[in-house]
Amino acid sequence: MKLMLLGPPGAGKGTQAKRLEDAYGIIQLSTGDMLRAEVSSGSDLGKQAKEVMESGGLVSDDLIINMISSRIDQDDCQKGFILDGFPRTTPQAEALDVMFAEKDMKLDRVIEMKVDDEAMVERITGRYTCAKCGAGYHDSFQKPEVEGVCDKCGGTEFTRRADDNAETVRSRLQAYHDQTAPIISYYREKGVLESVDGMAGIDDVTKQLKEVIG
Ligand code: AMP
Repeated sequence: MKLMLLGPPGAGKGTQAKRLEDAYGIIQLSTGDMLRAEVSSGSDLGKQAKEVMESGGLVSDDLIINMISSRIDQDDCQKGFILDGFPRTTPQAEALDVMFAEKDMKLDRVIEMKVDDEAMVERITGRYTCAKCGAGYHDSFQKPEVEGVCDKCGGTEFTRRADDNAETVRSRLQAYHDQTAPIISYYREKGVLESVDGMAGIDDVTKQLKEVIG
C-alpha cells in the first residue's frame, strides 16, 4: 500500500505516519528525516540542504526527487510506504507521477490533514523527541508520564529540531502556503484527495485515517 499525507508543518503527518507504519506494516518515508540524517552525517547533500532548512525554505526539487526516487527502489519499500513531507511543490508532484509510472507503482490514498494554521506555531515550537528512540512529546499537549523520562524506552535525553523555533516556523508555514498548498488542488482535480480533521486528538486522527484507508 502506498499512502501520501499532506498538510502544513505541525499537522501531525510524522506522528500519524509512525502509527500507520505499525498498523499496516509499511514504512514512513519522510524527506525531512532523510535530509536531517544527511545534515548530521555531513554529506555533500547535507551541506547543500542545511542552510535552506535552517531558514525554513524548501530544498531544490531536483535534489529531493533524486533522493526519494532512489529511496523507493530499496527493498524495505517494496511492501509499501507513507510519503510524509513529499511532494511539496507542483514540480515534485508531477515528477512523482512520472516516477510511479516508470516504476509501475500506484498511489492508493492521498490524504490531507486539515488544520488551523495559527495553532501550528504552538504545536511546533513545543515539540521534542526522545534522543534514543525518537518518541515524540510536547511541552503542553503530550508530556512524558515521569518528567524527563521517555515513556517508551526510559531514555533521559531529548532533542528539539533546529528549525522548530518561532521565527523559522513562520517561514515554513509561508513556504507551505506559497508552494505546497497548490498541490492539494492538484490531487483534488485528479479526484483522489481525501481529508481528515487534523485538529482532533491524536487517537481520533488515527481512527479517521484508518477509516479512509479502509
Ligand atoms: P519536515 O521535517 O518535513 O518539516 O522538513 C524539514 C525541512 O526539510 C523543510 O522545512 C525543508 O527545508 C526541507 N524539506 C523536507 N522535505 C522537502 C521537500 N519535499 N521539498 C523541499 N524541501 C524539503
